Amino acid sequence: MNKAKDITSYLKNYGFFFPNAEIYQGLAKSWDCGPNSAELKRKLKDLWWKYFITSQPYNISLDSSILTHPRVLEASGHLKEFHDWLVECNKCKKRYRLDNLVSVKEFNDFLALENKSEYIVKQNCPSCDKNEFTNPRQFNLLLSSDLQITNQKKENIVYLRPETCQGIFINFSAIQRSIRKKLPFGVGQIGKSFRNEITLHHGIFRTREFEQMELEFFCSLEEKEKWWEYWNQKAWSFLTSLLVNDKKKAQKKALSQEELPHYAKKTTDLYFQYHFGEGELCSISDRGDYDLKNHSEKSGEKLKVEGTTPHVIEISFGVERLMLAILEDAYQEETVKNSKGEKKREVLKLHPLLAPYFVAVIPWKKSLREKAQQIYQKLLTEINFSVIYEETDSIGKSYHYQDAIGTYYCLTVDDQTLNDETITVRERDSREQFRFSCQEQELSQFLNQKYQECWKKLIKI
Ligand code: ATP
Repeated sequence: MNKAKDITSYLKNYGFFFPNAEIYQGLAKSWDCGPNSAELKRKLKDLWWKYFITSQPYNISLDSSILTHPRVLEASGHLKEFHDWLVECNKCKKRYRLDNLVSVKEFNDFLALENKSEYIVKQNCPSCDKNEFTNPRQFNLLLSSDLQITNQKKENIVYLRPETCQGIFINFSAIQRSIRKKLPFGVGQIGKSFRNEITLHHGIFRTREFEQMELEFFCSLEEKEKWWEYWNQKAWSFLTSLLVNDKKKAQKKALSQEELPHYAKKTTDLYFQYHFGEGELCSISDRGDYDLKNHSEKSGEKLKVEGTTPHVIEISFGVERLMLAILEDAYQEETVKNSKGEKKREVLKLHPLLAPYFVAVIPWKKSLREKAQQIYQKLLTEINFSVIYEETDSIGKSYHYQDAIGTYYCLTVDDQTLNDETITVRERDSREQFRFSCQEQELSQFLNQKYQECWKKLIKI
């Protein structure tokens, strides 16, 4: 299996990602989404929403707060359990997560030790090649903020949520009462999460601030196995249908008992073969009744339905990690023939529903601007797909740019358009061109139909 190409600078050049606060020398390892990835991200979240929530008879949504009461994270176990094992090189001061430094077997042996803080790392430091590591110590991943009501006091501390799902668990009774659902039902939400990671690397892959798309599916213990299979299948289909070029870069891995997070009875992680190696982008966990039971016990609120505490299956996708996988999969370098011979083409063959722009309207020459603008202005009112207007001094340059950002159709206005109200439609992947009517009704119907076909194909999977 080939690794994907490192396209970090490509993504910066084409307006996908910018280092945060670059004009002030930047906030280390923190990224902003530029215009093209802001569009891609919004589309990816919409797609997840339709796929996991609105097209599912059982599921509904929520939008809970980022600021989190300490008691929530005490009950969920995060105050005590949410940590990684940190070691630091005494020579070059580089910090590592122990599980990233040693083999899986060594890490599992370490986890089984009673006295973990006496463990000695045998490897040399990958950075300075010396073996002068500190003993491992626990590093809590929670990020906090001070509400500054008075002086800094412990009771004024709030946490930035480390996962979106706790908002779903603590609102469980309110949700269940308001929608009067019986088991099974799921609650999904998309939003920011924060973790004070020991090491930050590989661009947007690991950051302190990121977004998650999480579904918590509540069911009875008796039906859990059936739903576990169902949601595992759904998550896998969602991922692989968005990897349009090489689905083999996606992998599943069931975690061993030692690797499980503190809340999980079992977990399957979905991986992608990124340019730097394999990385997790989604986690599917059987959380049992862990969360509802603990919140019920600590809050005194009855978090039950039909007399029982439901069990939970969680599907947790990281938005940025999924985006990076999709972009690395979509990026293609091709040699194509044109009138002057052969040339290199860089193209993002994204799933059409994820293209930052589904359609670009391009005048063949500047004198056709007025007609192109008329068509563009009409298409702007479409609600299903987004449109961009593009004008350069050569059609070749326009196609080059639109291919590079993944635009699915280029609609070119030329001299013939003024005579017969037709335009050239160029399809991104095949570069095939054909003429089509640019009468408002027909063009809009054609594009909407293409868009709907892509959506129906995805939802059927
Ligand atoms: P890792 O082992 O890589 O730290 P994790 O197992 O702690 O990840 P989960 O708690 O399972 O991650 O979170 C679910 C998903 O949230 C992950 O699959 C990933 O896509 C995303 N995610 C978690 N931490 C980060 C981060 N620091 N930056 C970006 N995305 C993240």
